[in-house]
Amino acid sequence: MELSQEIRDKYQPVIGLEVHAQMLTKSKAYSNDKNEYGSMPNSNVSAITLGHPGTLPMMNTKTIDYAIKMGIACGSNITPIQHFARKNYFYPDLPKGYQITQDDTPICTGGTVLIKDDNGKDKTIQLTRIHMEEDAGKSIHDIDPFNTLIDLNRAGVPLIEIVSEPDIRSSQEAYNYVTEIRKLVRYLEICDGNMEEGSLRCDANISVMLKGSDTYGVRVEVKNMNSIRNVQRAIEHEITRHIIAIENGEKLYQETRNFNALKGTTSAMRSKEAANDYRFFPEPDLQPIEVTPAKIESLKAEMPPLPNELINKYVNDLKLSEYDALILTDQKEIALYFEEIIRHTKNYKAAANWLMGDIKSYLNTNASKITEFPIEPKEIAGLIGLIDEQKISHNLATQKVFPEMLKTGKSALIVAESNDWIQNNDESEIKAIIAEVLAENKEEADRYKAGEKKLIGFLMGQIMKKSKGKADPKSASKLINEMI
Ligand code: ADP
Ligand code: MG
Repeated sequence: MELSQEIRDKYQPVIGLEVHAQMLTKSKAYSNDKNEYGSMPNSNVSAITLGHPGTLPMMNTKTIDYAIKMGIACGSNITPIQHFARKNYFYPDLPKGYQITQDDTPICTGGTVLIKDDNGKDKTIQLTRIHMEEDAGKSIHDIDPFNTLIDLNRAGVPLIEIVSEPDIRSSQEAYNYVTEIRKLVRYLEICDGNMEEGSLRCDANISVMLKGSDTYGVRVEVKNMNSIRNVQRAIEHEITRHIIAIENGEKLYQETRNFNALKGTTSAMRSKEAANDYRFFPEPDLQPIEVTPAKIESLKAEMPPLPNELINKYVNDLKLSEYDALILTDQKEIALYFEEIIRHTKNYKAAANWLMGDIKSYLNTNASKITEFPIEPKEIAGLIGLIDEQKISHNLATQKVFPEMLKTGKSALIVAESNDWIQNNDESEIKAIIAEVLAENKEEADRYKAGEKKLIGFLMGQIMKKSKGKADPKSASKLINEMI
């Protein structure tokens, strides 16, 4: 059945996302096995990871710290006393038969993530909770034609799960939400945010209801999207599938579905398990964790400025456009570079333009990162200063000085001075040159005075030539008109 826009418009999609982020800790959540992507399969697997009888887990407190940082960044409440729970299920890649997670004391509750809606307006998505858990191993079905292979390196890798309220209303909003979460975890350096490698994963819960209704429809949960774009595609597919089913009078079931990226479709994986299928019970081998206000303060002090704080500062204090602010804060390293430039100049717009213009294009052409960029932020401020003091023109700065700075690593001032590029702003000297030019080109000067305006180009050319290009064109043209 084709879905017309008219029918689609009758329905309101409702979406809640569960984002899993692998924490960038050196070792696993409850053992000192390495937490490393891409090691030889089954090389980071100790008896603790295997859950052998008699082994005891030991909490890697870095995981808790990282999760608390995420909570602080989202304005969540941090749970003061946390204990751990076992979530039991049988799966070949879960050797213990349970995951150590949190049940009724998640690390964080509440909080918000600020995104853009479909019209580019600010929208707040409420978080339900952020809790900690451990990853399972990986079953590999596509290497051996007859057997499933298992790599347990991932088993026990710490994860946080960030659960949103069903506040998201379109696949575009979901895209923006996951992008925002990825930006946050990267700013905080708690997760590399790489969806292709699975370090950031997202399960999408989707339902539809008639517009104006206040009862949510039956939701399905879709898994296995390995890019933010695929999260969006999976949601679009489900919205259409749900509406068609409802229009045809079919019943929808709460179930878990699998996304197929090649086809852009989903298929049923299993019917939804209820919480009591997991037989949660308190983890007897781990002490409860106490998070003191002092601990929260010390973690706060370690945190970098966050993108939204920077955007507010750039728009409200520095008077940059929101567009500029968004681009400058998209990557933390770029934002930090900008922060350094503006410690040395008050010309914020020029700083933004250099960074988003000549510097970005240098990075693009050389496929390099801002952290590898050869010019120090302070020197960019110096370059801006030279232009603002009219010691060099903007053209000269982009065409000659900046490339020379890249080549030599020298400051703008030294580059300009050693190449004799500093403009001459000394009025009396410029006046003397103009007087000479007027005397040597009396005929052109007279014709210009008589109204042949285009001769100004010729006269200016003579002045620039005589001054070896160093006369400041603005003051020269002002002075010539006064003198003629
Ligand atoms: P589960 O263990 O069943 O996955 P969670 O509490 O972890 O439950 O996550 C439920 C997710 O589903 C949340 O993100 C929530 O916002 C979302 N959700 C709940 N009801 C609906 C609904 N009717 N439509 C869409 N999403 C929903
Ligand atoms: Mg879930």
